Amino acid sequence: MEQIKHHLNDGLLMAYAAGNLPEAFNLVVATHISMCDECRARLEAFEAVGGTLLDGETEDVGEVDFTGCLAKIDAGPSEPIRVDHKPGLFPSALQDYVGGDLDAVKWRPVGMGVRQAILPTSKDATVRLLHIPAGAAVPDHGHRGTELTLVLQGAFADEEDRFGPGDIEIATEDLEHTPVAEMGEDCICLAATDAPLKFRGLIPRLAQPFLRI
Ligand code: ZN
Ligand code: ZN
Repeated sequence: MEQIKHHLNDGLLMAYAAGNLPEAFNLVVATHISMCDECRARLEAFEAVGGTLLDGETEDVGEVDFTGCLAKIDAGPSEPIRVDHKPGLFPSALQDYVGGDLDAVKWRPVGMGVRQAILPTSKDATVRLLHIPAGAAVPDHGHRGTELTLVLQGAFADEEDRFGPGDIEIATEDLEHTPVAEMGEDCICLAATDAPLKFRGLIPRLAQPFLRI
């Protein structure tokens, strides 16, 4: 795999370690961690710090509750992290949601050649696999919340940067972008969103309630 250039930020890693992320985001973070030595090491460092910091109760450093802290370290994150890798494109954490590898995905067309498969998670956020044909674009859109996109195969570029295999793009309210898959290989991404996206064009907006994007 090419070198991963775009990583998880500290906020996401801490929330993941504390078990505070919606299930959809948990899956994207776990999948990136299973592909990325650097973020796995940073996660371990956060876990070693334990619960005091993760609860945001860092003001009163003088009185650290070591018993509570150790208990939290012992308990670990709410979801176990599986870093083993079955053969295939998808890391294990993702294969568990898909029920197999790439060939088990039940794709549905979303227009302009783009296909998606929404994975079953709790309702507070949504996670989907996206299949973007080489050279094709995902409609121009903004974000009401946070969108976390992990590239599994191929690459895409938008107004911000280029994202290759293993890279994570963290898009928030202030970003409006048109991701375009690179030529050569179809791009497959795993993307979590915590609020509906805001599409610019009329047709994507009309289709949005049906596509759950
Ligand atoms: Zn990373
Ligand atoms: Zn986006």
